[in-house]
Amino acid sequence: RTFDNYNLSDEIKRALAGLKYKTPTEVQSEVIPRAIQNQDLVVKSQTGSGKTASFGIPVCELIEWEEKKPQALILTPTRELAAQVREDLTNIGRFKRIKCIAVYGKEPFSKQKEELKQKNHIVVGTPGRVIDHIERGTLILDEIKYLIIDEADEMLNMGFIDEVESIIEQLSSNRVTMVFSATLPKDVENLCHKYMKNPINIEI
Ligand code: AMP
Repeated sequence: RTFDNYNLSDEIKRALAGLKYKTPTEVQSEVIPRAIQNQDLVVKSQTGSGKTASFGIPVCELIEWEEKKPQALILTPTRELAAQVREDLTNIGRFKRIKCIAVYGKEPFSKQKEELKQKNHIVVGTPGRVIDHIERGTLILDEIKYLIIDEADEMLNMGFIDEVESIIEQLSSNRVTMVFSATLPKDVENLCHKYMKNPINIEI
């Protein structure tokens, strides 16, 4: 198995070489080829499996650089994870000059507002702050084509179900949805059933 099997652009392949990612991890070899085909996915996998790059690589590959509005939205339960995902995706998208912003609580709203006025391809955020930005008109989601819900079980454990649903309901139904979760309790399954299109289940 190598990353050469996925027909990735030279820019993405150069970034992976720079990161010293030589062979895809198991979750990456399951997710990347399906995500590139715009398939909805429910992925049961742990932190440390390489799950961030499993969605980061196809999303960065599929981003259209010229588009001015954000094309991918990644929801995370915590600030720390949002910052980590932003860093990983910035590294993967480096040679495509992909702009990725993180928005989360306990950081000044005004600073994020200024950053959101710039062109951003990918937005990573915690549900509460994402909703704040939507409500104040500082985050426009009408061009979102990829929605990733990372650590979905944690997100629902933390009580974010209403926020997550209200964000999803503002997105175009013409999108790809990927859910990542270490466990698949009933509430995560219900969310997937309600908002996904014939998702493929991947268990690592
Ligand atoms: P994650 O599960 O996304 O938190 O990733 C765990 C760690 O594995 C991170 O430090 C990544 O940089 C690293 N990683 C991800 N994919 C690969 C790969 N294909 N080869 C080597 N390291 C990787």
